[in-house]
Amino acid sequence: MSLQVDALRGALEPLVPVYPWIVFGAGVLLGWRFHRLQPILALVLLLAAERTLATFADAGAAPADRAVTAAVALLLPLDLAVLAWHSERSLRAGAGRLTLALLLIQPLAVVLVRQPELESLARALDAGRAGGPGLRGAALTQPELLAFGAALALASARFALRQTLIQSGFLWALLAAFLAVGAGTGLAATVYLTTGGLVLVLALVETSHHMAYDDELTGLPGRRAFEDALLRLGGQFAIAMLDIDHFKRFNDEHGHDAGDQLLRMVGATLTRTEGGGRAFRYGGEEFAILFPGRSAVDALPHLEALRRAIEATGFTLRGRDRPTQKPKRPVAAGPRRKLSVTVSIGVAESDGGEADPREVVKAADRALYRAKGAGRNRVVCAG
Ligand code: GH3
Ligand code: MG
Ligand code: MG
Repeated sequence: MSLQVDALRGALEPLVPVYPWIVFGAGVLLGWRFHRLQPILALVLLLAAERTLATFADAGAAPADRAVTAAVALLLPLDLAVLAWHSERSLRAGAGRLTLALLLIQPLAVVLVRQPELESLARALDAGRAGGPGLRGAALTQPELLAFGAALALASARFALRQTLIQSGFLWALLAAFLAVGAGTGLAATVYLTTGGLVLVLALVETSHHMAYDDELTGLPGRRAFEDALLRLGGQFAIAMLDIDHFKRFNDEHGHDAGDQLLRMVGATLTRTEGGGRAFRYGGEEFAILFPGRSAVDALPHLEALRRAIEATGFTLRGRDRPTQKPKRPVAAGPRRKLSVTVSIGVAESDGGEADPREVVKAADRALYRAKGAGRNRVVCAG
């Protein structure tokens, strides 16, 4: 599994020693900045494994050195799986401290296995490795394969339960660890493990971006993304502001959780905006839709389609959406009830000139206000 093409290898080899420091350095800084202990620990773990393999994997046939590689092959996958099952919260609780302690004593185990007194243990760890003496072309021993199999099962189960980018990063890190240990050279271990780390760092970057720009409840891009998008607008464009009708009453009658559920439903409908429109959660129960390159008249039929789609969908109150507090008014009996939901929309345009997008937002807001005044459940054009 080592790099095959000699010329490429010659060109890349001098870069290999700096590769881990750049990736792990950047990753740990980023994780620290965004208060993400889980990827930080995974990266430190990968770096420790990388440093260990880089030092010992080429060392030759001494049982003590081979045992170090074997110890990494056994511990690294299991450590990654345990970390994958942690959350940011659990890492800061008692279970997290226990895991941290287990990780911290592992270097000690690696030092111990190299002591002459423990040579029989060292031999046992390396027993049954195919490929003969010397680690080049080494295959994994059965316990090592078992450790990887168990770790893969655990991390996959975790991913099935919690499909985040960081969790998929853990699966890639496991694959990288498998390739690194199987490759049996220090150079290959460095390349594979650092690349595994790079996947985690990229997952961290993506997650941080998502956290900063996207609204957690609806999954739509949020206010910050909207302000950013406004800066990029120019020339012809239309902006629509959308507000759920009588949402306060809906919250009061059916509870905050049902209100959240309704916001998600409206958000989901808005992701299907046609005509080049892009929806944002502006704040509370207000949404904004940008139509770059379009006039208000262009946008109008698509906004009308959204208004009708929301009105037609309504909101089905399920058992678990029932209010936790006693509603102020009596609610009709029956396990499922369809409630009517409507939205009002105001739309304004740039007029193709020098219009400041913020002024267009204000004009759309005024049109929305008129839509409310005119009886709600309608689209009103500014001007
Ligand atoms: P109108 O038809 O005139 O728009 O009336 P309204 O009741 O929809 O407007 P108002 O601005 O009075 O009420 C907005 C309500 O939205 C008040 C607030 O409790 C609720 N709200 C804002 N953000 C959230 C949220 O994230 N979840 C839930 N459940 N409610 C929210
Ligand atoms: Mg409002
Ligand atoms: Mg409202």
